Parts: sequence; structure tokens; C-alpha cells
Amino acid sequence: MNIALIAHDKKKELMVQFCIAYKGILSKHNLVATGTTGGLITDATGMDVHRFLSGTQGGDQQIGARIAYNEIDLVLFFRDPLSENMGEPDVAPIIKLCDIHNVPIATNIATAEVLIHGLDRGDMDWRDIVNPKNK
Ligand code: PGA
Repeated sequence: MNIALIAHDKKKELMVQFCIAYKGILSKHNLVATGTTGGLITDATGMDVHRFLSGTQGGDQQIGARIAYNEIDLVLFFRDPLSENMGEPDVAPIIKLCDIHNVPIATNIATAEVLIHGLDRGDMDWRDIVNPKNK
């Protein structure tokens, strides 16, 4: 499966901890991320993460384009709902694309835990039929 990882600045540490905790599952899949988030995950876990541009440079839109091409199977976007940081990407366009293409998305760690366990249990194997290029 192709998994996209994005975290707003105040949620980046949480994303790193999540990836450390679930490295055993995540490392079986193809990981992509916005620039800074991806770098932090690789530094902390050693996992290979394909990094798009930073969120401030349009990395979220690069991931959005992949979702639109139905190339992403799961999105974990840890957003900071209290942030006023105008430079950070908006989650709404990503959710919209996920809803169009029926891609599971978590916007907080509680939902991410449910989805990651579901992924490991095979609940998302139907995505291999939708997107047969996945490993
Ligand atoms: P980043 O993008 O991982 O490059 O920081 C996400 C964000 O800007 O919040």
C-alpha cells in the first residue's frame, strides 16, 4: 500500500512517535510524506520515506495530486486544529480528494491507530484491486 504522512508543526513529534510505535507495520508499505515530516520520520526510524516538497512549498498538493490519481491508499494527516499558522497546508482539500476516491484518512492519532490496525489485518486489501500497482 502507498501511505501518505503529513503533520502540522505542533503534531510532528506525535507523528514521529506514532511511526516509531508502528514501524513494524509501516515498514511493509511504501511511505510518502511532505518534506519536513518525512525527514523527521526517516531520522527517527530509519525507514525509507519518499519526500515531496515541504508543506509550505506545496508538498501537500503534490500528495493531493497522487490521491486524485488514486495512487494513495491511506492518508495520515495529523492536523493541529488550534494552529493559526497560515503557512501550513489545509486539511480540507485532502479530505475532499479522499472522499472522492474512497481513500481512508485519519486526521488525529486515535483514528490513525484504528486504521493502522485495520491495515495490518487486511481491511484495506480491496485497495489492491482499485490500484493493482501496489506492492
Ligand atoms: P512539512 O509539511 O512536513 O513539510 O512541514 C506539513 C506542514 O507544513 O505542516
